[in-house]
Amino acid sequence: MTVTELLSYEDALAAYDPVMGLEVHVELGTRTKMFCGCSTALGAEPNSQVCPTCLGLPGSLPVVNETGVESAVKIGLALNCSIAEWCRFARKNYFYPDMPKNFQTSQYDEPIAYDGYLDVQLEDGEVFRVQIERAHMEEDTGKSTHVGGATGRIHGASHSLLDYNRAGIPLIEIVTKPIEGAGDRAPEVARAYVAELRELIKALGVSEARMEMGQMRCDVNLSLRPRGEQKFGTRSETKNVNSLRSVERAARFEIQRHAAVLTSGGTIVQETRHFHEEDGSTTSGRIKEEAEDYRYFPEPDLVPVAPSREWVEELRAGLPELPRLRRKRLQEEWGIADHEMQSVLNAGALDLILATIAEGADSAAARKWWMGELARHANESGAELAAVPITPAQVARVAALVAAGDLNDKLARQVIEGVLAGEGGPDEVVDRRGLKVVSDEGALGKAVDDAIAANAAVADRIRGGNLAAAGALIGAVMKATRGQADAKRVRELVLEKLGVQG
Ligand code: ADP
Ligand code: MG
Ligand code: ZN
Repeated sequence: MTVTELLSYEDALAAYDPVMGLEVHVELGTRTKMFCGCSTALGAEPNSQVCPTCLGLPGSLPVVNETGVESAVKIGLALNCSIAEWCRFARKNYFYPDMPKNFQTSQYDEPIAYDGYLDVQLEDGEVFRVQIERAHMEEDTGKSTHVGGATGRIHGASHSLLDYNRAGIPLIEIVTKPIEGAGDRAPEVARAYVAELRELIKALGVSEARMEMGQMRCDVNLSLRPRGEQKFGTRSETKNVNSLRSVERAARFEIQRHAAVLTSGGTIVQETRHFHEEDGSTTSGRIKEEAEDYRYFPEPDLVPVAPSREWVEELRAGLPELPRLRRKRLQEEWGIADHEMQSVLNAGALDLILATIAEGADSAAARKWWMGELARHANESGAELAAVPITPAQVARVAALVAAGDLNDKLARQVIEGVLAGEGGPDEVVDRRGLKVVSDEGALGKAVDDAIAANAAVADRIRGGNLAAAGALIGAVMKATRGQADAKRVRELVLEKLGVQG
């Protein structure tokens, strides 16, 4: 493989202005396929969820999945789109073995939703508006597995296996208008947009949108134009990027690659490209200099889709609170600053904190543990916060023990440490390690008496009104109880026994 020339990111941005277009495919979570009754469940035996319709056998007739249309309308509404009063499906004609019908049922010039926008928040809190061109309905293809080659690609393979279980699963394709004006933040905008879109899709309940499972994938179109120029440059289209990080890396790589080609006097060819996870690079795919001729025509076997205005308004009224507004509301409820909320989001802690609150913890305690102790643990072990081996219910239990005075902070940290080490749930760790705050007044009283007896001079100073000296006695008691006393109660007892007002 030839090494791709790259210009440094800074030099690329000094000379050129990036323009992006993001096409995101989302697999809907409907129970059945878009045009037949076959199951969409994952993990089944290959070709066990197929029928004449999704195999494109002669004489079969498709029927539109109503839930699929409903999901498309919901997505369109959440993206501030207009919803078509009447639209049709179209045949996109091409041959590929993973598509036995020889055409993909899609939408062409009559998308169900069009002209919207999605506001995305960048890491510094700035809100960037991404304009949406359209969201349309289509169907997924089957899955080919190329066997016998080194790369898993068709090149070099000895044969291919085809599984049509995925053929006909409903997809919504969401296409942005050209994204201009992001400058050096273009890769960040791309990532933030896909992240926000994923949150939105999940909030709508129309798909789990798990990128690692291919339920959501993004094509990154990118071109550069000389700074100050209006006309767009030629774009490349990096296909099927399937993680947030990869979306950002693909955009960044293409900026640097285009810039290297352009500064050396070369021209960019319009082509699709493959993204490589290992090193974040892209390589050439299919040349796409002219628009491919898919011979689109309206699907004659399906009735047009005409969502009534009443139904659309009903769906609009039933939309859940959208993620960005929900985050804003939570931030206000919790009374925290922008940057604090941002770090909660960056840490991937929002859902965990909410789940912990749902288990009874107060918001401050939930945030404190997830953003403190547990975030540190995630950091040190290089894991995602959600993968840290403790549940929100367990964190809530620790918070409850602290709130009840059974644990102080220091002991609570030890309990968490025990849970993370696999010693069991919080109560088990408390028992096994003997970590309860000493709240037995008799034992505590004796420890205070002992401390006073052993530090007579300090006790005298306190009696004489030097309250600051109490710290030494409290320290002695804490030491004697191995940190398992409630420091506030110890202070009360010390002052009480020495006959001083606190
Ligand atoms: P195709 O079907 O070839 O992928 P589309 O027009 O459906 O083409 O989508 C292309 C995507 O790229 C859209 O998001 C569009 O806004 C964007 N786009 C179009 N021209 C350019 C360009 N010159 N540079 C960057 N993005 C572009
Ligand atoms: Mg495309
Ligand atoms: Zn079928």
